Amino acid sequence: MNRFENLRKQMIDHQMVARGLRDQSVINAISAVQREEFISKDLVEFAYTDSPLPIAANQTISQPYIVALMTAALELKPDERVLEVGTGSGYAAAVLSKIAKEVYTIERHKILANTARRRLEELGYKNIQVLIGDGTLGWPEYAPFDAIVVTAGGPNVPEALKQQMAIGGRLVIPVGSALHAQKLIRIRRVGKNEYKEEDLGSVRFVPLIGAAGWEDERAIKPAGKKTEENLQELVYKSSEHFASINHINLNNLLKRIGDCRLVLLGEASHGTAEFYEMRARITQELIEKKDFSIVAVEADWPDATYINHYIHGTAPDPLLESKPFSRFPTWMWANHSVHEFIRWLKKHNSVRPQSTKVNFYGLDLYSLYSSMEMVLSYLEKVDPETAEVARLRYGCLMPWANNPEIYGQLTVTKQYRECEKDVLVTLRDLLKKRLEYSFADGEKFFNATQNARLVANAERYYRTMYYAENNSWNQRDQHMFETLQAVLEHKDQEAKVIIWEHNSHIGDARATQMSARGELNIGQLVRQKYGDNAYLIGFGTDHGTVAAASEWGGPMEVKQIRPSNIDSYEHIFHEVRTDNFLLPLRKPLLEITRNKLSAERLERAIGVIYQPETELQSHYFYASLSHQFDEYIWFDETRAVEPLARGVTKDVPDTYPFGL
Ligand code: SAH
Repeated sequence: MNRFENLRKQMIDHQMVARGLRDQSVINAISAVQREEFISKDLVEFAYTDSPLPIAANQTISQPYIVALMTAALELKPDERVLEVGTGSGYAAAVLSKIAKEVYTIERHKILANTARRRLEELGYKNIQVLIGDGTLGWPEYAPFDAIVVTAGGPNVPEALKQQMAIGGRLVIPVGSALHAQKLIRIRRVGKNEYKEEDLGSVRFVPLIGAAGWEDERAIKPAGKKTEENLQELVYKSSEHFASINHINLNNLLKRIGDCRLVLLGEASHGTAEFYEMRARITQELIEKKDFSIVAVEADWPDATYINHYIHGTAPDPLLESKPFSRFPTWMWANHSVHEFIRWLKKHNSVRPQSTKVNFYGLDLYSLYSSMEMVLSYLEKVDPETAEVARLRYGCLMPWANNPEIYGQLTVTKQYRECEKDVLVTLRDLLKKRLEYSFADGEKFFNATQNARLVANAERYYRTMYYAENNSWNQRDQHMFETLQAVLEHKDQEAKVIIWEHNSHIGDARATQMSARGELNIGQLVRQKYGDNAYLIGFGTDHGTVAAASEWGGPMEVKQIRPSNIDSYEHIFHEVRTDNFLLPLRKPLLEITRNKLSAERLERAIGVIYQPETELQSHYFYASLSHQFDEYIWFDETRAVEPLARGVTKDVPDTYPFGL
């Protein structure tokens, strides 16, 4: 079985059968189509992930599960003739052609239709015909059709399609007055003028544009424009407005945080100065006025250790050195905003007794190589014999230490031995000797243990990345949560912690589209364990500049952020008649605002990668804001972080492959 066949099988098991799809003819058809052939080369590794992907002309290839669901809903028989509206990549047409006798498919974008036609020919599909045109008018020459499927969403059901159905035929189509409010419906033609309609659930598709669809892309307006205007006014009345970060009075925010022991501070991009600076402001006040003593961030453990030593006055400034934070994306931590903040931490600590100094830790797991090195160098000092054994065990992973994502790829083929046991034994050995080692220096022992834990979790992360994407996402967030627990156990269970991570890690995953994919995050885990003792704050912006790369490992660029999508929370906040504000959601100033902000809308996430060209597909997801966060902080216009000038080495991207 080659790599893709394996992934395809995993996709069918995890994304389809696990969700209750039982139709064997559909499963067989999906198994027989090479989805990787329908996707551009640079996205091919995501071919079997549980999501739609961008294709040319700003369109998408549908999520595999949706293709299966719609195909099953058509109840196709082998001798039937089917019409598809919205060829896109040609993938769904290929799936249909494995069941039905003849497939006719229409695409309005010439480039897509031509590419799909050529592709299907090359792959040997003989029973598919592709037409360039407006599918809302159907394809009368070949009517009637036993089944019709529309893979784009329009305001209502085009009459021509109803007319071109055979009696007994089925039409499956997404319909809705706004992008986020589409319903998948099935219409059966039971008589010449008789149709039966069923609702198959909520879906989200690109717009159906044509004579009996939307007029053009810009014509799609959210439903109920009037209530939207009210909502902007409600947000205005329910928020605290401020002019600048330096002059903001945070007393009310501190009151709302009250006795919470964990404050989680998000960001809507990894490259926006205001997000870093505001988090620094809030963190300083929490440290000074509420005795918070731990700052834990979305950076790797070993890198953050350098900062921790620096703020304790025991090491030089790591952001000016070239070693820590030297791998992509360097700007995420080695920037002026962070630099100013850690200098403040150092100054703060310098006049405090040891027991009340602030500590700085990294929760992330991308530092496979340096963590292995740190475990080994620790053991060499305290227990050279065990160090030798550990070196042999880590030898299993060493060949991939600099390219760990390839390790995951290779373990899928089973050609290579999995290193799981070896790395776990090293961690277990360390923990077993806890008393003996930590007697000499508890802090150093703790550091080594955390690195060993990181190696073990990173091994699992990379190994599963190629099986199921959501699984490895979960492992990463679980590792971050586990690390947080270990820090609290090591320091003081009652210690107060501030966490800095991207919104997508911090906003409760249960209130977002992530949960439908089985994904969780640290915000959810923290809420589940600490309940109201945790305060989750999200951040957002409409436009401005951002520091981000165009591809994994690529150079940092200062990019323009596109004004927010019309269906997004950001768009509502942009229309509020003040630029910057704090919006309390746990204890809202007006209850009705919170209620209205719980309706699902799009939300934007910019990671270390920003691709404005495919923004809707690659950077927006659905969420329910007031369930996701306890408070939200808005900056209408933002600017890119400024990287510190230092030596840059190119390596595996720290946040590969998600960019968050
Ligand atoms: N079935 C496709 C999904 C493509 S997305 C796949 O498997 O890849 C929907 C497609 O519908 C887009 O390519 C869009 O350009 C197309 N589309 C939208 N309105 C259309 C119309 N009126 N006629 C034909 N195609 C249309």
